[in-house]
Amino acid sequence: MTRIGTPLTPSATKALLCGSGELGKEVALELQRYGVEVIAVDRYQNAPAMQVAHRSYVINMLDADALKEVILKEQPTVIIPEVEAIATPALIQLEQQGFHVIPTAKAAFLTMNREAIRRLAAEELHLPTATYRFADNYGQFISAVKEIGIPCVVKPIMSSSGHGQSVVKTEADIDIAWHCSQEGGRAGAGRVIVEGFVNFDYEITLLTVRHSGGTTMLRPIGHHQVNGDYRESWQPQQMSSIALQKAHDIALAITDALGGYGIFGVEMFVCGDNVIFSEVSPRPHDTGMVTMISQDLSEFAIHARAVLGLPVPEIFFRGPSASKAIVVEGNTTEVVFSNIDAVLEEEGVQIRLFGKPKIEGHRRMGVILATADTVEHALEKAERAYKKLDIKCL
Ligand code: AMP
Repeated sequence: MTRIGTPLTPSATKALLCGSGELGKEVALELQRYGVEVIAVDRYQNAPAMQVAHRSYVINMLDADALKEVILKEQPTVIIPEVEAIATPALIQLEQQGFHVIPTAKAAFLTMNREAIRRLAAEELHLPTATYRFADNYGQFISAVKEIGIPCVVKPIMSSSGHGQSVVKTEADIDIAWHCSQEGGRAGAGRVIVEGFVNFDYEITLLTVRHSGGTTMLRPIGHHQVNGDYRESWQPQQMSSIALQKAHDIALAITDALGGYGIFGVEMFVCGDNVIFSEVSPRPHDTGMVTMISQDLSEFAIHARAVLGLPVPEIFFRGPSASKAIVVEGNTTEVVFSNIDAVLEEEGVQIRLFGKPKIEGHRRMGVILATADTVEHALEKAERAYKKLDIKCL
């Protein structure tokens, strides 16, 4: 039985977010609708979720001691990882001491590392994946590329959002890919995965929620990536019934193996009726931001319910929808968005601005959401709205 106390009193139900980006901000808001006390943690000040949380801490979340100190001090009811770059072995220890990690400390640990999750999916669960090899140094990398063949995709095992990732299309790309992987990984230089290039028809995120009433899958989300970073997503992605069934089977197998309560973003490639597992995040997914307009319960609202041990008996789908990331280039600590009135002129359009305090290079600063009679029209509407947005880096 779920019981929720009063925030800022000894009876409070406390959620500690490890990672305070735009996804964490929405989770924080949804938890607060239930009267949960929210503590936001991240490596920099004024991160989006910190701006709406009850309290916040700035620490290096890869520093196990710093992470444990905050958690032991706060004694949260639930610890909710929002990013991959966390000292997950510390979460495993804390779980053993009785803390509740979402969905499980093992899930956070395995999904932080491309090798661990790939071996679980391919070698233990026998799910279809791209061919792959791992390499620790340049010599092993060259052998791995030879074995997998060109074209192939190279990624640091500790990375996300396209950091350090590149495609080897010709022999000339091999050295570039190695250097890129050694500079772009989360933990600096080190082990990489070399994957066979999958010439997919489309790729999907299947949001899957494990909750106290069972496992529920949302309609598939299609998305478009640029350099490993999502730019547009839409829901539903049309799929053949055979492919959809295969996607459901894969999502069920991997989420059952990870366990716990919460939402998972299961990423897959689809070629005709064939479905290939790519990766899984045991938390809301960036491509799933489209659910803020497409469903009565967004992926964040669903996550909040699930982590609190509440059931999700029904999710109402509102209709074909799209999201478009607002990615801004520059070097600044002040961004100003204008002409928002024009952006919102058309019916069925919404905008979220994340309030991120700094851009160095390029950064996702907001998202435009649109709903229409078809996915194509929703994407066009989001694009029209986006074109009207005026962005200035001061
Ligand atoms: P990931 O960080 O592994 O999700 O990769 C980011 C994006 O790169 C994916 O969403 C795909 O668009 C692309 N990608 C990754 N791996 C492969 C692959 N083996 N073949 C083709 N495209 C890939």
